[in-house]
Amino acid sequence: MDPAVFNRDCRACPRLAGFLDDVNDRYPDYYCRPVPPFGAPDARFLIVGLAPGMHGANRTGRPFTGDHAGILLYQMLHKYGFSSRDHSEATGDGLELVDCRITNAVKCLPPENKPVGAEINTCNVYLENELKMLPQRAVVMALGGIAHRAIVKARGLRQAEYKFGHAALHDLGEFRLLDSYHCSRYNTNTGRLTEAMFDGIFAEARVLLDK
Ligand code: URA
Repeated sequence: MDPAVFNRDCRACPRLAGFLDDVNDRYPDYYCRPVPPFGAPDARFLIVGLAPGMHGANRTGRPFTGDHAGILLYQMLHKYGFSSRDHSEATGDGLELVDCRITNAVKCLPPENKPVGAEINTCNVYLENELKMLPQRAVVMALGGIAHRAIVKARGLRQAEYKFGHAALHDLGEFRLLDSYHCSRYNTNTGRLTEAMFDGIFAEARVLLDK
């Protein structure tokens, strides 16, 4: 993978690099590295999550794989024709994304799932370069406000002009940005994001891409 888009050896954020070392000591068989984007670089549909989950992407090395956050996501991807299967088990499971790619605003596992501003900013160069690879008429889905703001920042745009809102659609010039609440266990358990709401976002993405 282009090192400007993803660097498996990145240790630019001291807190995150140190945390990954600690977690690796506790869980030696976990992946414990920056987690690479999953899917082809020329895919027209890019989904941007927050950061790897401790026992999910940080364990398996694939975004949204191995923990609760990925369950509904991969079901929707499959339902709308973006994935060969409705469940992502682990790297090497044969699952393929179709015209779709999944990445995270922050590539390393943050303590308590909370990257600090400096970490989001430091990691932003990878997202910026990844967004530059998007083909014409692409759709980018932001999962949550942090991912949304990371995308707006990566494009060098003013946050005040592009506010996050569930189901909001923004024209960012080179691509369209579609917002959704994050599909975290907390959001799905509390009903902040229901299956019907998430389904509606994917239906819209499908229409935008098929138009
Ligand atoms: N797993 C990821 O890869 N990203 C998230 O935002 C949440 C879980």
